Amino acid sequence: METREKIVIIGGGFAGLQLAKSLNNKRKKVIVIDKVNHHMFQPLFYQVACGRIEPSNISFPFRKIFQRSRNIQYRMTDVQKILPEQNKIVTQDAEFTYDKLVIATGCKTNFFGNGKMEHLTFGMKNTQEAIAIRNHVLLAFE
Ligand SMILES: Cc1cc2nc3c(=O)[nH]c(=O)nc-3n(C[C@H](O)[C@H](O)[C@H](O)COP(=O)(O)OP(=O)(O)OC[C@H]3O[C@@H](n4cnc5c(N)ncnc54)[C@H](O)[C@@H]3O)c2cc1C
Repeated sequence: METREKIVIIGGGFAGLQLAKSLNNKRKKVIVIDKVNHHMFQPLFYQVACGRIEPSNISFPFRKIFQRSRNIQYRMTDVQKILPEQNKIVTQDAEFTYDKLVIATGCKTNFFGNGKMEHLTFGMKNTQEAIAIRNHVLLAFE
């Protein structure tokens, strides 16, 4: 029986999603892991933050994106550790083995070492943060 190469992609952002789509229906087993269940179109977070569009307008569920794929699976979980010598990753829910691993986890907000700024400002790197800004502004006006 043929054993297909197993590719694990951590992160379903622009990079991870683009790669997964290019591997759709190829002779590979692909597992996309993301800690949230939807792809986020980050360039429009500011529109969510100022209340012009709903978060659902820029959130695309991974299960829907991959529902017709025969070789791509999606798992929602937070990757916590990579064990390269064992070709294994450890998540909060389970361990996954791989033949090839792609890390496409994006980046974090940089506060340039200013801890005070970290507490006093809002980030805008995920849907929850954009909603937090929207709620804060609306409440301030109310
Ligand atoms: C507000 C804003 C506006 C932007 N506007 C533009 C623009 O106009 N034009 C432009 O070209 N670019 C823009 N960008 C930049 C662009 O969105 C990023 O460059 C791009 O999203 C990076 O893609 P990525 O795949 O590397 O990471 P991301 O898109 O950030 O994806 C990373 C994914 O990894 C997941 N992840 C992270 N850690 C883990 C973990 N431990 N376990 C499981 N999953 C994990 C995250 O949930 C996320 O889904 C903007 C960014 C922001 C924040």
